[in-house]
Amino acid sequence: MADLTPEGKCLFCEQTYNKSGISRHLATHLKKMDKVDKKKSLHLRVEAGPYFLNLLMDGDAKLSDLDGFLRAIWLECCGHLSQFSYGRWNEEIRLSLKCQRIFEKGTKLWYAYDFGSTTELDIKCIDVYPVAVKEKIRILSRNEPYNSICVNCKKKPAVQVCTAHWGEDDAYFCEYCAEKHEVECEEGEYSMFPIVNSPRMGVCGYTGGMIDVERD
Ligand SMILES: [Zn+2]
Ligand SMILES: [Zn+2]
Ligand SMILES: [Zn+2]
Ligand SMILES: [Zn+2]
Repeated sequence: MADLTPEGKCLFCEQTYNKSGISRHLATHLKKMDKVDKKKSLHLRVEAGPYFLNLLMDGDAKLSDLDGFLRAIWLECCGHLSQFSYGRWNEEIRLSLKCQRIFEKGTKLWYAYDFGSTTELDIKCIDVYPVAVKEKIRILSRNEPYNSICVNCKKKPAVQVCTAHWGEDDAYFCEYCAEKHEVECEEGEYSMFPIVNSPRMGVCGYTGGMIDVERD
């Protein structure tokens, strides 16, 4: 995945930016939103390697809502344990806490899903705004899916990855070539996983998320 250049579209204006550019760009829209008395919404950036999400989260929602959301969009395979903490493997933060009690501008949290084959995420509160969101969590931007071409036929889009060749550039296959590779792969522990837009791709039984980005 060396050539993955993480870019994301802005939900408000559909323009594309890179990972750090999109966070700054989103602020220009968020500053223009109507102010609501006593409301706090959090602009959160969640990342893992080239994967990222920018979220606007209702400050009254609980940390358990963020846990459920992250599982649904990126992580859930078989109901593993998860935890939020300040720093890797530090004391767990209670899920029942309201997010506005945990996050202020600049707050960084660490999140782990599955304590065996762990997927780790970094969460940063970019800023806090006196605005309201309709839903508990709104997706402002998400990295675009990785579109690669099959390494064998070099024609069709790749849809499967060989986990025996994990991390190498020649692990991505179209449906047809994946079947052929299954026979030819020299690694005994061959297994194919669907290519999905998630940092949990190829881990445990993960086959894809339950949420797509909705644009207005
Ligand atoms: Zn925009
Ligand atoms: Zn699992
Ligand atoms: Zn192919
Ligand atoms: Zn292989």
